Amino acid sequence: MEFSLTSAAARNVRTGLTWSLLAAFAAIFVLVGVPGEAIAQSSTGAVSSAAEQYQADVAWLADDAREGRGLESPGLEKSGNWMAKQFEVIGLEPAGDDGYRDSFTAQIMIPDPDQADNPHGGERREVEAFNVVGRIPAGAANPLPGAIVVGAHYDHLGMGGQGSLEPDVAEIHNGADDNASGTAALLAVARELVGRRDELRRDVWFVAFSLEEKGLLGSSTFAREPTGGLEMDSVFAMLNMDMVGRLTDDKLQVLGGGSAEEWVELVTPLCEAAMLQCTIAGDGFGSSDQSSFFAAGVPVLHFFTGTHSEYHKPSDDADLINAEGGVRVAGLVSEVTVLTAGRETPLTYVEAKERQSQRMSFKVTLGIVPDYAGPSDGAPGLLLSGVRPEGPAGKAGLERGDIIVGMGDKEISSIEDYMMVLAETEPGSTMPVTVVRNDERVVLEVTFDD
Ligand SMILES: [Zn+2]
Repeated sequence: MEFSLTSAAARNVRTGLTWSLLAAFAAIFVLVGVPGEAIAQSSTGAVSSAAEQYQADVAWLADDAREGRGLESPGLEKSGNWMAKQFEVIGLEPAGDDGYRDSFTAQIMIPDPDQADNPHGGERREVEAFNVVGRIPAGAANPLPGAIVVGAHYDHLGMGGQGSLEPDVAEIHNGADDNASGTAALLAVARELVGRRDELRRDVWFVAFSLEEKGLLGSSTFAREPTGGLEMDSVFAMLNMDMVGRLTDDKLQVLGGGSAEEWVELVTPLCEAAMLQCTIAGDGFGSSDQSSFFAAGVPVLHFFTGTHSEYHKPSDDADLINAEGGVRVAGLVSEVTVLTAGRETPLTYVEAKERQSQRMSFKVTLGIVPDYAGPSDGAPGLLLSGVRPEGPAGKAGLERGDIIVGMGDKEISSIEDYMMVLAETEPGSTMPVTVVRNDERVVLEVTFDD
């Protein structure tokens, strides 16, 4: 029998999947015809156990045919369409700006390899992509206002290069753990909660983000301009799954556990019930999509099974994925969602403390959170997605949404310009900072801490 399943599935077959299952797979092939695609379609239908379903979804997303789901690749487009199809099959309501789609454009810097030492070296370019957005409206008899957002990014590094830990290897980076695992878990949570809608006291939104690898572009755009009538200040909590496919010894990191006072108390019993050893800690900022929501004042969690030696390399393949583990993490996230959606009193948001590491690299900090997507109209400047009230910027009156265009006598057109000025600034010094706010230029006097 000729299968064109990925190596992972072939090995599973050899490691003892019953011949009847093989027969079932064969039948599906004959029925639907296109290898890979067939698995995708059927994986939402007839596959028996949740772990096999999960493995099939990961295998589909992390198949070479998806070309590593890189920026502007047909593989990324196909993966987004496939996610929309799965949302439809599962029964989520479309909640994008066009069906399940939430299209966006963003500015990115394409580095010029010949100017490696020049931070300005490269070309700024506008790119297009789309998030995939679905919703389960609250089905409980006593609904509550607000919504829970559950998310995972579906893009990855494509053929490598920028962001790869083997940047000189031009090979498909399938990103099975980063983040086909979280994307498949998003589908598993959606399937679970569609069947438990009557337990949901708040609406639950499911968002598959794009261009996370390019600077959280999909999630920062969504947090700035939510679709489907969602208001950011009605988002009760955001749960992010990024790299949940390598559960080992039941150990799970629940990052962002410090972003609300109640998270540890709320999540610990659920971890115990799931027999997962959870480390629940950390503020809401980190290198994944929950940061975009935390910067907007939302309590967040990032579920993470830990890094490994295949991270951001061509070797991050589906055969290394612990499917049972992925399903268990999805199960935990489903329970956290149901419990949080039923909470009467709001979670107590906790501001992030100044990061020691940041202070080390520069002598001063401004106390802002840059929005890597930049101003939506592509205008030059540094858009702020967050301002720490007690930091120099907060004290001077800078606000979320401001666009910094000048610091001292320097023009600021990008985050690189900002970093350059910061690197030259002395503690205790004062400088005029010019921002654009509601199309008006405003000059504010900033004094850096000693
Ligand atoms: Zn990731």
